[in-house]
Amino acid sequence: MKTVNAYAAPSAGAELEKFQYELPELKNDQVDIKVHYCGLCHSDMSMINNDWGQSSYPLVPGHEIVGEVIALGSEVKGLKKGDKVGMGWFSGSCMHCNQCMDGKQHLCGSSESTIVGRHGGFADTVRGHWSWVTLLPKGIDMAKAGPLFCGGITVFNPIVLSGVQPTDKVGVIGLGGLGHMALKFLKAWGCEVTAFTSSPNKKEALLKMGAHHVVDSTNPKDLESIAGSLNFILNTTNVKLDWDSYLSTLAPQGKLHTVGAVLQPMEIPAFSLIGGEKSVGGSPLGSVALTRKMLEFCVRHNIYPTVEEFKMEDVNKAIQHLEEGKARFRVVLKV
Ligand code: NAP
Ligand code: ZN
Repeated sequence: MKTVNAYAAPSAGAELEKFQYELPELKNDQVDIKVHYCGLCHSDMSMINNDWGQSSYPLVPGHEIVGEVIALGSEVKGLKKGDKVGMGWFSGSCMHCNQCMDGKQHLCGSSESTIVGRHGGFADTVRGHWSWVTLLPKGIDMAKAGPLFCGGITVFNPIVLSGVQPTDKVGVIGLGGLGHMALKFLKAWGCEVTAFTSSPNKKEALLKMGAHHVVDSTNPKDLESIAGSLNFILNTTNVKLDWDSYLSTLAPQGKLHTVGAVLQPMEIPAFSLIGGEKSVGGSPLGSVALTRKMLEFCVRHNIYPTVEEFKMEDVNKAIQHLEEGKARFRVVLKV
């Protein structure tokens, strides 16, 4: 048994409080991580508020974890005590279904989510299955690497999945935690990038980050000027937008892909897709192997999220900061 010191929401929407719990004996295929840093993702807020109806309390959020291996079972592969590692939204998958055997563990029907029905990384220790505990490349900046394990891989995966080419013109809607990482990836990929933001005061920072154009995401009139030009649009907002206006900005065979958890149905007129062979899709995070490749890509191109660091004990201040739309661009908590 190991006592974990964590921060938990006692009920839906409540402020986080200090919370201790006991981890049972480590199983052969499990790893315990001493948490150094943990990012704050919008999905943590959705889970604290039970927006998706799958929260249980007390709820320890935190699924953008980096830290150090402190204990491991006898069947753990490729890791040893002291290794620097990361873990994201998934902390386990069945390892025998077709999706897992095909290297698509993020599509496993019985995957385990780090903060659903178990406790996450706003804590001094967190546990996961060895396959989802990823070794960090040498030289990576741990203070900034946490957000790559949820936000980062969530926006990296659709770039690969959709076959985005360096010659493509692309758009990112919502330049928050996920969106600003998408902008950095797509810029390094070689694309011409349009940032669709509802925050005019982000414009200068987005241009500095590599955006070629910055457009008002809430004004369909602004979208008319770029009609028919984009090959790929990635939505990272969780709000209802004028989806048809976005479809009209796509070039023939263009794709609108959402990773933002929009709760309202997305209204997509069939004729906005048919004429230009356009398509709409979505995805959750990415595979274990693609996460490793993304980390290498980040080190090669020196890509890190732009982070604001808070102490773990100031977690409620950090949550308020994100809720007020003030985060620039990802909040990271230091244990
Ligand atoms: P975030 O940091 O809060 O960023 C969301 C951005 O959306 C905001 O910064 C803002 O960007 C834009 N936005 C917010 N309200 C808006 C409004 N009313 N109108 C237009 N734009 C608005 O959140 P995040 O951590 O990046 O997460 C984004 C979404 O992805 C969440 O729904 C989260 O749950 C989801 N998510 C999904 C996956 C997955 O597996 N698919 C993984 C991680 C997260 P601007 O200021 O630039 O407009
Ligand atoms: Zn997340």
